[in-house]
Amino acid sequence: MTRILIAEDEPRIAAFLQKGLQAHGFTTTVADDGVKAAYLARSDDFELLILDLGLPAKHGTLVIQELRGRGESLPIIILTVIQDIKDKVKALEAGADDYLTKPFSLEELIARIRVQLRHQRSPRTSEKTVLRAGDLVLDLRQRKVQFKEKPIELSTREFTLLEILARQPGQVWTREDLLDQVWGYDYDPTSNIVDVYVGYLRKKIGRGLIKTVRGMGYRLQV
Ligand code: CA
Repeated sequence: MTRILIAEDEPRIAAFLQKGLQAHGFTTTVADDGVKAAYLARSDDFELLILDLGLPAKHGTLVIQELRGRGESLPIIILTVIQDIKDKVKALEAGADDYLTKPFSLEELIARIRVQLRHQRSPRTSEKTVLRAGDLVLDLRQRKVQFKEKPIELSTREFTLLEILARQPGQVWTREDLLDQVWGYDYDPTSNIVDVYVGYLRKKIGRGLIKTVRGMGYRLQV
């Protein structure tokens, strides 16, 4: 399991990140201020750091300077708000590897995490790259899907939705959870887009695989 440290002081965003990363098979720990983040990041327990720049106790840029000053090579992806453009430049100069501007989609964050982990090529990094659930095979690296040994063309969103369902076959996901995971925490919660996309997936892989759980949501049946 790849372990990721999340340094974020906004509980809502921290919870969103934790849920989302765990749904993609990562193990997460949250640090809600910069001092804790710098301390935990030095512990050697993590493969990657997601770092909000605007942290209490110690600004994100100082956290990066401290870590890099101690020779820590842990990949760091920073989270900034658009107004922090100068901070972003400083953070990259201090040794951050990549950045995302809030609000961001989980999909994009996961893609960037995978890029960083691939660069790192640490022997500790053992994230699964092929996911199997019954007759369904998802290649996470190439984002390709086969069902009953036939390739299926999916859009990025369709792929992400299917990936989440396929990670824990049998688990019931509510529409709200899927909306959070695939479309992001700031998406309109009254939207019926989840149902629309489940419809698209059923058209491509047949109706039997994704079950509707009445009054609750959806699950993958294998
Ligand atoms: Ca913050």
